[in-house]
Amino acid sequence: MNTAYIALGSNLDHPLRQLRQARSAISDLRLTELLRCSSVYQTDPLGYADQPDFYNAVCAVATDLSPQALLSALQGIEHAQGRERLHGKNEPRTLDLDILLYADQVVKQPDLVIPHAHMLERAFVIIPLLEIAPDLIVPGAGPLQGYLKSVKNQGIRKLQKSWRG
Ligand code: AMP
Repeated sequence: MNTAYIALGSNLDHPLRQLRQARSAISDLRLTELLRCSSVYQTDPLGYADQPDFYNAVCAVATDLSPQALLSALQGIEHAQGRERLHGKNEPRTLDLDILLYADQVVKQPDLVIPHAHMLERAFVIIPLLEIAPDLIVPGAGPLQGYLKSVKNQGIRKLQKSWRG
């Protein structure tokens, strides 16, 4: 099986509930086993500032789904949880699921880029990912630890209440 890291984000319609539901849906995916999840973090919105804070987390899975099949499965979960596209990039959303890493693979397809194109610019990815994989090496970019300094000005707070309410 391949280890993949998935970023979860939500800022609408009870975000913590959205993340819990998504985590449970990920653990139910075929050919896939949920390994562990970070704490949930509350983060300032990027892009449109006039929207609620985001709740973010990262989960690790072991999967026999291909990267493309995993992407389709995650998009199925997004749709099932009622994601609507209104504004485009960085819009408010009920649920966003991104594949950050898939084993040590580099994928460059029109609809799928791995490592995720923006993962190294975002505190809400780097901090939860380091929580569950402190020694992670990002293909083509090196140790994840080295990118922490560059995102230290982004607002992010660990929630005490994470997966259990
Ligand atoms: P977003 O607004 O972040 O949800 O972007 C969704 C789009 O990004 C989808 O159409 C995907 O095909 C594309 N995409 C490219 N790379 C990835 C990735 N690593 N994980 C998830 N979506 C991706």
